[in-house]
Amino acid sequence: MSKATLPLAVLLAFAPFLGLPFSNPQTSPPPARSSPEEVRRYFSEEEAARGRLYMWGRYALFFVGLGLKVAFLLLLIVIPASKALERFAFSLAFGKPWLAVIVYTLVLLLLYTLLFLPLSAYRDLFRERAFGLSVQTIQGWLLDQLKGFLLSAVLLPPLVLLLYALIRRFPETWYLPAGLAASFLIVFFTAISPILIEPIFHTFRPIQNEDLRARVTALAEKAGLQVEKVLEMDASRRTRKLNAYVSGLGKTKRVVLYDTLVKGSSPEEVELVLAHELGHWKHQHLWKGVGLAALFAFAGLFVGSLTLHWGVQKGLIQHPADLAWFPLLLLTLFLFHIVTLPVENAISRAFERQADYASLLLTKNPEAFIRSEVQLAKSNLADLTPPRPLVLFLYTHPPVLERIGMAETFQQEGR
Ligand SMILES: [Zn+2]
Repeated sequence: MSKATLPLAVLLAFAPFLGLPFSNPQTSPPPARSSPEEVRRYFSEEEAARGRLYMWGRYALFFVGLGLKVAFLLLLIVIPASKALERFAFSLAFGKPWLAVIVYTLVLLLLYTLLFLPLSAYRDLFRERAFGLSVQTIQGWLLDQLKGFLLSAVLLPPLVLLLYALIRRFPETWYLPAGLAASFLIVFFTAISPILIEPIFHTFRPIQNEDLRARVTALAEKAGLQVEKVLEMDASRRTRKLNAYVSGLGKTKRVVLYDTLVKGSSPEEVELVLAHELGHWKHQHLWKGVGLAALFAFAGLFVGSLTLHWGVQKGLIQHPADLAWFPLLLLTLFLFHIVTLPVENAISRAFERQADYASLLLTKNPEAFIRSEVQLAKSNLADLTPPRPLVLFLYTHPPVLERIGMAETFQQEGR
């Protein structure tokens, strides 16, 4: 039991600092709105049907991907391809264990990428194009995949090396230093991603539209935020979807607007999206997200260490640092992620409600909020009546009618 109480204590110690917004009435879930009348007030029958068709395919593909990942990792353990791969890695490594870890990781990454390429191509390219959402060519998409693969090929081997060095050094308690290292890396990559990783895939520039720029400054001033960077991303090279996000930490912090959003919406609607992003900023959601990710990393690694420990006790595994059992560790981490996904997404939805509410307080313009939500839902083919269990399991944002509902309440209360 003492093994289990330590990570739990770490989790509990951090919880109050995260300021989880569950107790706030504005951010706790409102009653689900999905009656046909509510849908019809803002959307046509065709729009609802199209969104449903698109999103139901996405739900199904999520579960197909999940099943494939579990099957892939199980198969590596059972047949036992991972053992063979480990032998192969050592045969190429001139007797150097660190080189064997690198070879093993790279071959595993290559296998994984190739195996999932057809599913990704169907889900993210062909199906998106069929729905008129993606405008990417096959070559463009493949280039993105290649960049992603190379990025992983550079970043992953050192991480796996570090992990196995820690497991070898601390076979019982490696999850503690590994959790600490993971927390540091989460902060580090969140901070550097906007300047070192995102530009590999996209081009960013300051927003060009004068009127919009003035609105940004005015809005940030009103919110009492020092907003230095509001950038426009060349999303239109890939997609017709509309979106915006905040990224970075400290000096790298920025708001990014898709150019599709800037071009395709009225300034008032863009302003609402921007106010929502400033809401995330104001409530420090990036830092809170980083804190939560670190907690989940600690907990996941702890469960991973229990699994390896169990394998050793059963006589399956000779030593926790046995590289051939890496897929078992990955499988445990993946299943832990799936099991905790509803919790992560509930927190995410609470953050989104908080940002929505902040945007209404800041702009006092619920009409534009509703127009912007309707437009986002139409352009991105949202499911207007998503099944409740899927919302709880998969949705990082509240369903669109709930978001509109918040603005309607705001309107009625005349705030
Ligand atoms: Zn948001």
